Amino acid sequence: DYSSWPVRSVRSRELYDRARSVVPGGVVGQGRIYDPYPLYIDRADGAHVWDVDGNRYLDFHSAFGAVLLGHNHERIRTAMETCLRERGVTFAAAHPLEAELAERIVEMVPCAEMAVFSCTGSEATLHALRLARAVTGRQKVLKFEGNYHGWNEHLNWSVHFDAENEGGPAERPVPYAESAGVAQSARENVLVVQYNDTESLTRIVEEHRDELAAVIVEPMFFNAGVVLAEPGFLEQCRALCDAVGAILIFDEVITGFRVAPGGAQQALGVVPDLVTMGKAVANGMPISVLAGRRDLLENLSPTGPTFFSGTFYGHTLSVAAAVACTQFLSETPELYDQLDALGRRLRDGLREAAAEGDAQVSVESYGSVWSMHFGASSPRTYRDISKTAKTKNAGVQRDYQRWMLERGVYIHPHYMIRGYLTAAHNADHIDHVIESSRSFFAAHRSD
Ligand code: PMP
Repeated sequence: DYSSWPVRSVRSRELYDRARSVVPGGVVGQGRIYDPYPLYIDRADGAHVWDVDGNRYLDFHSAFGAVLLGHNHERIRTAMETCLRERGVTFAAAHPLEAELAERIVEMVPCAEMAVFSCTGSEATLHALRLARAVTGRQKVLKFEGNYHGWNEHLNWSVHFDAENEGGPAERPVPYAESAGVAQSARENVLVVQYNDTESLTRIVEEHRDELAAVIVEPMFFNAGVVLAEPGFLEQCRALCDAVGAILIFDEVITGFRVAPGGAQQALGVVPDLVTMGKAVANGMPISVLAGRRDLLENLSPTGPTFFSGTFYGHTLSVAAAVACTQFLSETPELYDQLDALGRRLRDGLREAAAEGDAQVSVESYGSVWSMHFGASSPRTYRDISKTAKTKNAGVQRDYQRWMLERGVYIHPHYMIRGYLTAAHNADHIDHVIESSRSFFAAHRSD
């Protein structure tokens, strides 16, 4: 039903019709679907994106959080232009910027004594897990329900699904394959626990103490919006890994560089053995990082037996962008206070507007990340939101996204509302979101 699409988007629709015959669903990846068709984005600058019909939107998608400094940031653009002019695109050979980037990461990130680079978050988590298996000689990995660690075979379990019906008992969840075609043999090595369920975590780790290679966790559970680790939860992950000789992996693909220069581990004071990062490290250029303890990283080839190689690993242009980005972040610590203040302004304003409109919505934020869950109160596990998100509140969520689009605000289409602020957002942008939301809550007041 195209008639319900709120914005003038004739060219997007034409592109959609064209793309669909050569690209499945007209989009490269399910994260890009929009109902009834995706907006095709033409360009982005600062806090805004423009679609192919010339509509301008205030962007809160921020390229899935990859853009921390705002789109097309001058420092990053200049570094990339210089790289292209003076060095080229990539060599698939050792180059001087790699060492510089690794040094910066070692300086910024608490657990990092060494670092290597791949391209995507999914690759980095796979390399981290393989390394953990290599050094422990064990096979099992424990992950938390709803945590997303990329599409790779070993970790693409129990993420976005109907956990109530498909996830098994709350205190002993069963792994749910996220995708058709996942190797069923991977299942026997996956253990799933609910986020913040310290008791079940402890029991299940102890049951598998001799088989457990790694615990992998989002130290801030942003794939469910903003769900924070309760006091003691990450500390218990750390203590259990130490007790049974497993490797603790923090997946900081979202939180890395975004919540603090040294990521969530710096903000929270719990230090893992390995960390995976991506997204914000190069403000939108594709590069991911695996970093951690020296004695572990030295097990990667060529110093160790764990295969590590990729044509585009250490891609020169991406590394140039990452060097410029990490340098900027180190020089600009006040950025994090600025983002915190904007995030709080947004959260407080939205909470107040929701209360005024009697809206049943939970508004959460941490630093530059905010989320809204209709029909839920402050979630602490994935099940708290999967209960409501995909069923009775899908409609109101979609209505909200459309309402905001009509008012020039681009929020990623998902089963929850999640947004990323950038250095390019300002108080006026935030107030526009609050006021537009206020009118939504008022118009949708349930009597
Ligand atoms: N880990 C986390 C925590 C993520 O949020 C994501 C992507 N959203 C990934 C891993 C996978 O990263 P990529 O999409 O770059 O493969």
